Amino acid sequence: MSSHFPKLAAEALDLQNTALFLDVDGTLLDIAATPESVVVPDGLAETIGRLEQALGGALAIVTGRELADLDRLFFPLRTRAAGVHGAEMRYDPTRPASAAPDSAKLSADLWREFVSLAGAFPGVAMEDKFYSFTAHYRAAPEAAPALRAALLRLVEAHRDLDLQLLDGRCAFEIKPSSFDKGEAVRRFLERPPFVGRRPIFIGDDVSDEYGFRYVSGQSGVAFAVGAPRKDADDVFADPATVRRWLERLAEPAAA
Ligand SMILES: [Mg+2]
Repeated sequence: MSSHFPKLAAEALDLQNTALFLDVDGTLLDIAATPESVVVPDGLAETIGRLEQALGGALAIVTGRELADLDRLFFPLRTRAAGVHGAEMRYDPTRPASAAPDSAKLSADLWREFVSLAGAFPGVAMEDKFYSFTAHYRAAPEAAPALRAALLRLVEAHRDLDLQLLDGRCAFEIKPSSFDKGEAVRRFLERPPFVGRRPIFIGDDVSDEYGFRYVSGQSGVAFAVGAPRKDADDVFADPATVRRWLERLAEPAAA
């Protein structure tokens, strides 16, 4: 409960010169049995809202969830955000999101193929996020190897779509490789209020490694959560420690 902040996070931050990018599941929120059953702790949305102000707006949530789902979770908070790993980009929180230039919705035919493959495994739940499809196997962990092999064959059978398979937390996701969290961060950093600021990215799974790699190339800092990950500079012990760090950053005295 009283885990210390990682060494790099314990340093004083110049909030006027920092851009913060935050993953959601496993980073801000504890992982739950299903994506729908996560709990948003009291005060978290308010903390993020205060921090966004302290950063002059240079805070974006970068998630695999759809933005509609994100907004429902954090209601009434609505920040700059990237949904479905950057397929949906919201540069201005007062305006609707736009699709990333190279993102296209996957076809209904591909969804039917996905359902016939993944649906053959009892207990596997399928999610259509339009720009990506996810098969959740938390309720059927024994199915994972065969499910993964079946989805890889699907990816191989559609080389023209340039799909990739992401190994998530008890989930496999297929998506075009044309967008990812690193691209999403790059797009934000090209625009005010992010431009010229030093990026910090915090995430917990393989999809976040694209973000880690990008911010590392921009003299930024990448934090993993729970365990070290490729291209992450340091590690937060758990989402509770991330939340305490954000609370401390959002205190007026820290600004
Ligand atoms: Mg995550």
